[in-house]
Amino acid sequence: MSETAGLGTEDLRNIYCVGRNYRLHAAELGNEVPTSPMIFTKPTHSVAAMTGGELRLPGSQGSVHYESELVFAIGTPYEPGIRFDELVSAFTVGLDLTLRDVQDKLKAKGHPWLAAKGFRNSAVLGRWLAYPGAAEIESREFSLSINDREVQRGNVRDMVFDLQTLADFVGSYYGLGRGDLLFTGTPAGVGALADGDHLDARWNGESLGSVVARIDH
Ligand code: ZN
Repeated sequence: MSETAGLGTEDLRNIYCVGRNYRLHAAELGNEVPTSPMIFTKPTHSVAAMTGGELRLPGSQGSVHYESELVFAIGTPYEPGIRFDELVSAFTVGLDLTLRDVQDKLKAKGHPWLAAKGFRNSAVLGRWLAYPGAAEIESREFSLSINDREVQRGNVRDMVFDLQTLADFVGSYYGLGRGDLLFTGTPAGVGALADGDHLDARWNGESLGSVVARIDH
């Protein structure tokens, strides 16, 4: 990871993610928009960096979907009343990779999502950038290109639950401290990866990292 964040992989603690936080994405999977944030976690062992190399992914359990998301690194412990801008030290564009066929089965049974969301290399992180404040974040867009074709584009203004609401929810129910990451949900345009796909995560048009998907069978 970059020095910018002062955050190495060994410093990672909790990885929180939010589901269905963009209306059009909830709709594309046939899901209702939730009435309170739908939070799940990933093991720290699921983290991988987008450094241009190959990313090994499981191929024997159905489709592996990409979900590009803004990811924030927490630098200051949560306490009630703290502003999002005071909590966060760095951000990047990441991938919340998902075994979609597995997830569909888990959802039907009401089972936890770990098997669909927590596998090795399922939390993929671009290069960290110093956090510039919410106003700057809102004025730019993140995107994902696969094989040089843009497949997703998002802006935090389209979130169902905004950054402050997510931080207050996660911080008050579960705790939020230095070394924690917050994946903030994916916009519309998710889809299945194919072996050899080249993924490039971008902030305001600038690449923050790329990987080549290697799907093991
Ligand atoms: Zn996601």
